[in-house]
Amino acid sequence: MDKIKMTTPLVEMDGDEMTRILWKMIKDELLEPFIELNTEYYDLGLEYRNETNDQVTVDSANATKKYGVAVKCATITPNAARMTEYDLKEMWKSPNGTIRAMLDGTVFRTPIIVKGIEPGVKSWKKPITIARHAYGDVYKNTEMVIPGPGKVELVYTAEDGAEVRELVHNYTKAGVAQGMHNLDDSIESFARSCFNYALDLKQDLWFATKDTISKKYDHTFKDIFQEIYDKEYADKFEEAGITYFYTLIDDAVARVMKAEGGFIWACKNYDGDVMSDMVSSAFGSLAMMTSVLVSPHGYYEYEAAHGTVQRHYYKHLKGEETSTNSVATIFAWTGALRKRGELDGNTELMEFADKLEKATISTIESGKMTKDLALITTLENVTVLNSEDFIKEIRKTLEK
Ligand code: NAP
Ligand code: MG
Repeated sequence: MDKIKMTTPLVEMDGDEMTRILWKMIKDELLEPFIELNTEYYDLGLEYRNETNDQVTVDSANATKKYGVAVKCATITPNAARMTEYDLKEMWKSPNGTIRAMLDGTVFRTPIIVKGIEPGVKSWKKPITIARHAYGDVYKNTEMVIPGPGKVELVYTAEDGAEVRELVHNYTKAGVAQGMHNLDDSIESFARSCFNYALDLKQDLWFATKDTISKKYDHTFKDIFQEIYDKEYADKFEEAGITYFYTLIDDAVARVMKAEGGFIWACKNYDGDVMSDMVSSAFGSLAMMTSVLVSPHGYYEYEAAHGTVQRHYYKHLKGEETSTNSVATIFAWTGALRKRGELDGNTELMEFADKLEKATISTIESGKMTKDLALITTLENVTVLNSEDFIKEIRKTLEK
């Protein structure tokens, strides 16, 4: 059989720990036997990020701007423990944070639904896609530990030198303070990405913030969404038979628990971070959640929503068997390959992505799965497979 050819490279961002092990297995077993993989490789593993003073992360984001499509493995965001574990020169920033800041755009996370894995929330029948704003707020904050009495102010200095000041707090004792920002441009592109994605999927769009408390910051988000909706999207939504719905974040959370699913829930950066973990675990497993960063300039970066699965990696290092679920990482590859195919007019590549997804789902539905799914499945006669055998089983299904 001739291997499928690729005309344009895909930006490949390798990562850390257990997901780095899965990454190689997926390439060896599920991709390279079928595709003449054409990737531009960037090693975002922590060791190499440290070696290059994190330049490799910046380079990989720039390559994504050049080629349009990237696929990323989970990576370690260093903390104090990682500083010693990897003997780091600096506590490097989250690669995802750096890439998101450079590409702007919105992260969409959708659970992968399979028969036999029933959502923890009984009313959920269809996937809920979380759209997470990928710029600013607490992820680009400036923080201060306030050692004792004194005042903290927000100061805006216009280009002509004029100043506007707002008192944050008059401290009489020690405390903490935090400054955050966002940009109208970024909120506008967030809104447009969400409205476009809703039209693509023909699903309702919900958006929620805390505008009753945050009367300027969050209210600006609400106003920008409404303005763009009224001007550019109201007619298109009506035509498509879908709705745009704004509510308070508390109300949204309460409603989501009683909803059926089948809609997109747009969240500010932090809400999206937290809510996507809740939604994915309620749909079954963190390992069954896909994630794509869609920039307003038309760049796409696909990844799994979970982390590097550190606990499994340490078992792996000790020579113990692991049963780590590779589904979300496989779907990161299929998402990227399909998009690459779409942009290049490469139908073979798009069809391959569909087939690999189908093979993955039907392998699970036939009762062959990793431990995380075996623990929660309603299927009987389940075979629990280790990390490698699960991938090999998918290959068998794919070859059929
Ligand atoms: P994690 O990798 O998401 O794993 C947390 C736990 O969830 C695992 O211990 C495991 O539970 C379960 N799990 C997650 N993915 C799984 C999979 N594919 N198959 C089976 N079980 C899975 O989070 P973490 O261990 O807290 O974080 C590890 C590292 O990942 C951190 O350094 C963090 O910075 C990084 N991280 C990266 C990203 C990213 O690059 N996008 C996102 C989040 C975190 P059991 O142990 O119970 O089996
Ligand atoms: Mg999170």
